[in-house]
Amino acid sequence: MKRRMSPNIRQRHAGYCSGPTPQYPSYMADFTMDLEHLGRTGYVASHLLDTASGPVLVDVGPGSTVGTLRHGLARHGLEVSDLHAILLSHIHFDHAGATGLLVAEHPALTVYVHQRGAPHLIDPSRLIASATQVFGDRMDFLWGKILPIPADRIRVLSGGESLSFGDRRFDVLYTPGHASHHVVYLEGANRTAYVGDVGGIRVPAIPHAVPVTPPPDFDHEMWLASIAAIEAWAPRRLLSTHFGFSEDPVSHFAQLRQGLREWTDTTQRLLESPGTDPERAAEFERWVIAWLAGKGSPEAIAATVVFSDYKASWYGIARYLRKKAERAA
Ligand SMILES: [Zn+2]
Repeated sequence: MKRRMSPNIRQRHAGYCSGPTPQYPSYMADFTMDLEHLGRTGYVASHLLDTASGPVLVDVGPGSTVGTLRHGLARHGLEVSDLHAILLSHIHFDHAGATGLLVAEHPALTVYVHQRGAPHLIDPSRLIASATQVFGDRMDFLWGKILPIPADRIRVLSGGESLSFGDRRFDVLYTPGHASHHVVYLEGANRTAYVGDVGGIRVPAIPHAVPVTPPPDFDHEMWLASIAAIEAWAPRRLLSTHFGFSEDPVSHFAQLRQGLREWTDTTQRLLESPGTDPERAAEFERWVIAWLAGKGSPEAIAATVVFSDYKASWYGIARYLRKKAERAA
């Protein structure tokens, strides 16, 4: 029998979230589970959607927070084995890392992902190897266990599909720019766009749409085209993995576009000035911290130096600008 969240469970846990009481809109509590990655509240979310086919998750977070995810489901009266499907925006570990663990536990789960991401879910060894080069022995602490997913559990997307789960329908939009395999799910009934990272990062502590531009896929033009495609659909509400609802898509995307322009211009300026790449990346990090001033609490901004990898964002934009210059030459 298909499980749905019972209405009294929803009501009982309206506003739920462990840690300090967040000032979220009450309806958000029905769907946003705070995964408290690395103990931080209001940063990495998994969204729980109630459908007549059974509960569906949009992004599941990393393997290191699968316990928090389990706990979040339990608050809605659910277990992993009650889940019907997982919709992934893209395969970065903070969005998809736990997927293999969940499928291993509940082999009937169906996972939706873009065609360019699917091979890395089926065989994550290359992804793990390159991440291990970056994170070394902090891999497990940061991301937890990453398990392969049987190919027959994966539904491959290319964009343009329409997915139905009981009474809810989602249109798939291919949205490269942050990652070459990124998709956004558009739910017409409530005009909500589940934007993953192509909506940037807008967390409760820093309520401003901030770019996140890691290597190797960042592409400024493609990102702008993806934003334009989402805007053309006229969403009333955006739902981001980092973190939760944005009720004003027009100003959200205006901020994000401006941020992408300023980050790219600054990276270009640093590329043209003397120094090594590590020096430029460090300078970029200092610049971002200054750029964030006034956009959130000083404590929250200072904390992002520890948790947000602005140096990686510099390398992402620099790689894109260098490839663009090569093409022009
Ligand atoms: Zn992310």
